Formats: sequence, structure tokens, C-alpha cells
Amino acid sequence: MQELTYFNGEFVEPGAKVISIDDRGYLFGDSVYEVVRVVKGRCFALSYHQDRLYRSMREMDIPVKMTPDDLTELHEILIEQSEIKEGYIYLQISRGVAPRHHAYDRSKLEPQMLMSIRTLDLDEVNKLGEGVKAIALPDERWEHVDIKTTNLIPNILAQTKAEKKFAYTAILFRDGICTEGATSNVFAVKDGILYTHPADNHILKGITRQMILTRVAPSLGITIIEKEFDRTFVDEADELFFTDTIGGVIPITKLDRNPVSGGKPGAITLRLREALEKLMEEGLPLLTRK
Ligand code: PMP
Repeated sequence: MQELTYFNGEFVEPGAKVISIDDRGYLFGDSVYEVVRVVKGRCFALSYHQDRLYRSMREMDIPVKMTPDDLTELHEILIEQSEIKEGYIYLQISRGVAPRHHAYDRSKLEPQMLMSIRTLDLDEVNKLGEGVKAIALPDERWEHVDIKTTNLIPNILAQTKAEKKFAYTAILFRDGICTEGATSNVFAVKDGILYTHPADNHILKGITRQMILTRVAPSLGITIIEKEFDRTFVDEADELFFTDTIGGVIPITKLDRNPVSGGKPGAITLRLREALEKLMEEGLPLLTRK
């Protein structure tokens, strides 16, 4: 088993200096990215990640040079060559390389693609099921966080503040409304109903979130309401949890100084976590599109 890095069509050594200092991804964070979970040697929900990647590229006006089939093949090659069974694949496409100037000329730029496959420590992922602490912070991001760009400064600062307080991550509030986590989506459970922020320009439309809403919760007969809610609603929720590609459903057991659901993972949260894990192990047909 070997972690691998692939850049613009070839495998490169770990730590190889292949990125130009004039790469707009490096200079401006002018790039898009995706993180896909590898489960039992297969990509989970790859077509959903591809759809989101292509949307991010369209929104960013970065030309698409690869078909979904080309991308799928590259993911499969990385898994095959690395022999990694449990891990994740990071993919980043930057707008290209040009002397530093804010405005870009699409006709003169060649997008640069980086992919890497890494192993995941499943013990650490499983431990998340025991619940995590979160802190509340203001959401200081721009108005288009639905585009998955590498320009993540507010997320980085929020995540660092959270970790300094020994929290797993932060729950962000924009104008008093709970949007999402610094690196994940947020759900609340109240009276047996699941609530989450609508997928508009104020959250990233997480793939795990989509799995919960379209497959996992319906399969358990749990009602879902996508609507905005505030700090009071969060404080009065019966259960809270994060979702993301790496951790799946992550119960929140403490928010700031207050225990959530009695300081233990909530029952519905755990049912969702378990059902998602089952779905991941069974795998989703690679080309299912929504
Ligand atoms: N929101 C943000 C800000 C994220 O960075 C992520 C991904 N880490 C998510 C939500 C969850 O998205 P996904 O389920 O696709 O990993």
C-alpha cells in the first residue's frame, strides 16, 4: 500500500516541487477541489462529487478539459496503483499559471490538476461516533460558499479557533442563522424531525448531506425539513450533528459549555450514522446521478 500523488498527467514523488509559483491556485486560492471517500477500494458517491466539481468549475469560469469518464478512470487508477482500500482522494484544479495579475484571460490559461490518494485511520473515524465538542462562531465567509474553492481563509481561522478550544470544529452563524460547520454541514433533530439549512449560496451542498436527505433519512422514515434556524433553535434541539465525507454523521455532544442531548450521541443521530455506514459499505452505483 502506498500513498500517491498525481500532477498534470503523471505520478510525482511525495513533496516534489511541481507547482509553479505563478500558479493562480497558489497565488490567489483560484482553484476548486473535491474530496472523495474510498471505501473497500471503491469511490463512494463519485458521480455526485463530479457533478459538484463541474458546477464549481462552471461558476468559476474554469474550462472543463476532462469528461466524467476520464475522471472516474483516474480515480480508479489511483486506487488500483496505491492499493489503498480505506482512504480518500483529494482533487484540485487551479485556473492555471500566469504572471500575477488579478484578472484572468481564459484563452491563455491551462488548468492544472493535482490528485492524491491518502489512507484513513478508521479507528479515528469510528471514534467520531462517540460524539464531538463544537463551538459557535460567526460565519465570516463570502456570499458564494456553495462553490467549493480552495479559498478557505475564514474556514481555516474558524477551525483553528475551534481546535485551540479543544473542539472538533465550529458551528457557523450568519446574521444569527446557523449555516453549517467550518468543514461540514450541520443538522438538528427536534421532536423526531430532521432540520438543516437549505442548499443555497450560504452553505456548501455537502454530498454526505445529500445522502442523508435523499437516501438515508427517507429509508428510516425520518421527516426532513430544509429551513433556516437560529441559535435558540440550536440550543433547544434534542440532537445535533455534523456531516462530511470523511467522518460521515458526527454526533455533537457539547456546544460551547452546554451538553447536547445529555452529553451523549442522540438516538436518531446514531441510527443515521449507522445507516450511512451501511450505504457506504454497500456502495452506490458509480454513475447514479441526481
Ligand atoms: N461544508 C463545508 C464548509 C465543507 O468544507 C464540507 C466538506 N469538508 C462540507 C460542508 C461537507 O461536504 P461533503 O459532505 O461533501 O464532504
